[in-house]
Amino acid sequence: MTKMIYLDNAATTKVDESVKQVMLPFFDEVYGNASSLYVFGQRAKEKLEDARAMVAKCLNAQPREIYFTSGGSESDNWAIMSAAQWGTRQNKKHIISTTFEHHAVLHTLRKLEKQGFEVTYLPVNANGIVKVDDLKKTIRDDTCLVTVMFANNEIGTIQPIAEIGKLCREKKILFHTDAVQAAGHVAIDVMAMNIDLLSMSSHKFHGPKGVGALYVRQGVVLTNLIEGGAQERGKRAGTENLPGIYGMAVALKNAVAEMKTVAARETKLRDKLFAALSKIPHSAINGDAATRLPNNFNMCFEGIEGESLLLLLDDAGICASSGSACTSGSLDPSHVLLAIGRPHEVAHGSLRLSLSKYTTEEEIDFVIKKVPEIVDYLRKMSPVWDELEKGVRKHAL
Ligand SMILES: *Cc1c(COP(=O)(O)O)cnc(C)c1O
Repeated sequence: MTKMIYLDNAATTKVDESVKQVMLPFFDEVYGNASSLYVFGQRAKEKLEDARAMVAKCLNAQPREIYFTSGGSESDNWAIMSAAQWGTRQNKKHIISTTFEHHAVLHTLRKLEKQGFEVTYLPVNANGIVKVDDLKKTIRDDTCLVTVMFANNEIGTIQPIAEIGKLCREKKILFHTDAVQAAGHVAIDVMAMNIDLLSMSSHKFHGPKGVGALYVRQGVVLTNLIEGGAQERGKRAGTENLPGIYGMAVALKNAVAEMKTVAARETKLRDKLFAALSKIPHSAINGDAATRLPNNFNMCFEGIEGESLLLLLDDAGICASSGSACTSGSLDPSHVLLAIGRPHEVAHGSLRLSLSKYTTEEEIDFVIKKVPEIVDYLRKMSPVWDELEKGVRKHAL
């Protein structure tokens, strides 16, 4: 493959070399079963608990509050289904969420709606941020759970998590946050932020795929997810994925240690992209320009199809995304861009670039040269753009 510029780190990231190295011994040296009683198994058990302590420390949690899972989707499902069972027992069957959650949250909520739960989906403002006042007005006596993502995976906007946590704690409502995009990228303190349940996923911060964690505040009742052995305090049976778990813990520890420097670098490069690509006429930044993940860029360009833009970027060696978790074949525009008020035809012309610590200025400069050329080329071929230019249609941007 020729030189490739990878700008889809919100979808997944490369495993750090140092993380890969710490994982290797678990395949052929420390491969004992952590549930076995002999010393060889107990060595694995120690490493498992080391990993739990490392993850806990990164969140300001206690080790016993960390449960290992197969990733962000599982953590989201587990947290929400658990909170719903707790709600059922209290005869509280109202849940509050937002319109722009990840599908792992939205589809779990849809399942609960079929089971008789009522879900209120809070709107987000044009900047992609939930208003705490809206939440306040929506809380009812029978609300059992509030689930609001820490940072959005398409537009990167960061939500007022500490304020939401404080409100939920006052009202004795469980608060879950999908922090899959935030963990390892921005500071998280589950104590200070009054978070009860938090989901994270290793492969979003340079750890291996197929492993994640769920933070469950002590005292919050967690239902059993998988019946079987006594792993994960008897709540999620199955021999632990120790290479993955240990790799995730080290990846998170590294990410937290280098967070400030990485964020500063990413922000500088990301803002260079915004400054340059905002010069394209009839374009707009999606989501608040400042209250967002340091590595997230998302813009709409009127009169083009995002998919065509992605294909041409791919030809130029640039891996990018339209932002939507494109269920391939689906022509639906992103539910996130619709949530922030972009009209359908504009939402189709979106571009998400998500940077990492490995992104170089040279790569960004190349993107800054390529994107305007491609947008221009696509607009020249677009009948919609032609109508916009002739005034048959009105510009939305
Ligand atoms: C990636 C992602 C998930 C899913 O995580 P997996 O580990 O791939 O299951 C959930 N929520 C958000 C916000 C994500 O970005």
